[in-house]
Amino acid sequence: MPRYDLLIIGGGISGLSALHFTRTRAPHLSVHLLEADSRLGGTIGTDHINGYSFDWGPNGFLDRLPLTLQLCDELGLSTQLERANANVSNRFILRGGRLRPVPLSPPAFLKSDILSWPGKLRIFGEPFARKRPPGIDESIYDFGSRRIGREAADYLIQPMVSGVYGGVASRLSLKSCFPIMREMEDQYGSLVRAMFARARKAKKEGRKAGGPSSPAGWLTSFRGGLYALIERFREVYAGQITTGAEVVSVRKANGSFTVQTTDGQSYEAKQVVLALPSYRASSVVAGVSPDLASSLARIKYAPIAVVCMGFPETSVSRNLNGFGFLVPSKENRRILGSIWTSSIFADRAPSGKVQFRTMVGGDGDHESAKMTDSDIISKVQKDLHDITGITGAPDIVKLYRWTYGIPQYHIGHSEVMTAIESELAKINGLHLAGNAYYGIGLNECVKQADAVVTKLLKG
Ligand SMILES: Cc1cc2nc3c(=O)[nH]c(=O)nc-3n(C[C@H](O)[C@H](O)[C@H](O)COP(=O)(O)OP(=O)(O)OC[C@H]3O[C@@H](n4cnc5c(N)ncnc54)[C@H](O)[C@@H]3O)c2cc1C
Repeated sequence: MPRYDLLIIGGGISGLSALHFTRTRAPHLSVHLLEADSRLGGTIGTDHINGYSFDWGPNGFLDRLPLTLQLCDELGLSTQLERANANVSNRFILRGGRLRPVPLSPPAFLKSDILSWPGKLRIFGEPFARKRPPGIDESIYDFGSRRIGREAADYLIQPMVSGVYGGVASRLSLKSCFPIMREMEDQYGSLVRAMFARARKAKKEGRKAGGPSSPAGWLTSFRGGLYALIERFREVYAGQITTGAEVVSVRKANGSFTVQTTDGQSYEAKQVVLALPSYRASSVVAGVSPDLASSLARIKYAPIAVVCMGFPETSVSRNLNGFGFLVPSKENRRILGSIWTSSIFADRAPSGKVQFRTMVGGDGDHESAKMTDSDIISKVQKDLHDITGITGAPDIVKLYRWTYGIPQYHIGHSEVMTAIESELAKINGLHLAGNAYYGIGLNECVKQADAVVTKLLKG
């Protein structure tokens, strides 16, 4: 039976980052990664077809976390990094069937028709909003409507939440999804005051502060798509990775772990990192701790479909100078939003063509998971036609479906995490990494992998 100091299970960004951090910080340890699929990357993938590059899941990360950039550098990928065009600050929201620009400054906000006059005035009352009732795990929606009013919560916050989480703002926990917002409120008593303070600080430090229209940091990927990162991991760590190895169980006896795969192979390890979606981790650990398994199973996922379409430029009459648009649920459309990928990264479509990347599903639309591919595609085409005036059929369509797409940090998530942490503390040497716990983005996956490796190296 192969024996290792550390076994990492799951070859998405979380597991691969954990492998890298272990190899670079503790080269004396024997470490191996098991991945169920025949390929690495999990939700990260890129197809190159007819001059288009289609990202299967994520299409970039924000360059605000030095650790992710350091990881790229250590992998020799710094020169392949590709920053989004400067036009990404131009974002749109659908209201009353028409795309409205998200204002970038207070004067633009005053002139904007994104909210009604009462809705705009209500935002100016933000510094005087009533305090959060004590001791509650407030939803993002309740937080938003308490601070900036219901209209802004419906037309600014809900679409942003569905763009990031595929989530429903009234179900998601503010403190688990956007802890920084809660901290800003606690520290400054007002988001407006906090934003001004942060903008001043960012200016002093020469950083992009982020604000109501776009997040802090630049959207960043690699030339040709995000999969370049995974290919590099594969090149560097081929000797430490086994693909096609689906783990069915992890058990602990006499101070070490036995890991079993579906093909009957067993591995032994002193420590194990489960870098799996939580519902998979749940079934794998049932034999070590039924309580840990049941806490992990409490984290729910939303389905999401990514529909990439290529069109001739001549099919699109509107100007695509921007990031794309989001659709508030009040607009009753099937799509959650659409990203103008080739405006963000020019090399994602051949010359004379444009790429739209449209999201369908989310926690508010579990029905979409039951739709056929052709149903999804025709709904997307109709919505894109109605909203952007696009005409004719696309040259090419690629649909990527994720039944368990994005973990949802529902109200109560922090309690689930407390239960998970207390069970984990009883099983010395077992660790969790992945996007189901403390942040759903690529940066957070890298950060968590780093934290887990730091912890396991301490013993
Ligand atoms: C549609 C979509 C768009 C997104 N867009 C962005 C974005 O633009 N920016 C961003 O920062 N984040 C984005 N995200 C989130 C980001 O993709 C994830 O946070 C990240 O990829 C999760 O990585 P992971 O390694 O934790 O999990 P995964 O990618 O799910 O990897 C887990 C791995 O474990 C393997 N596995 C499962 N079961 C077993 C088993 N029993 N044995 C062995 N291996 C197993 C799987 O095959 C998989 O390879 C998006 C996600 C989706 C779905």
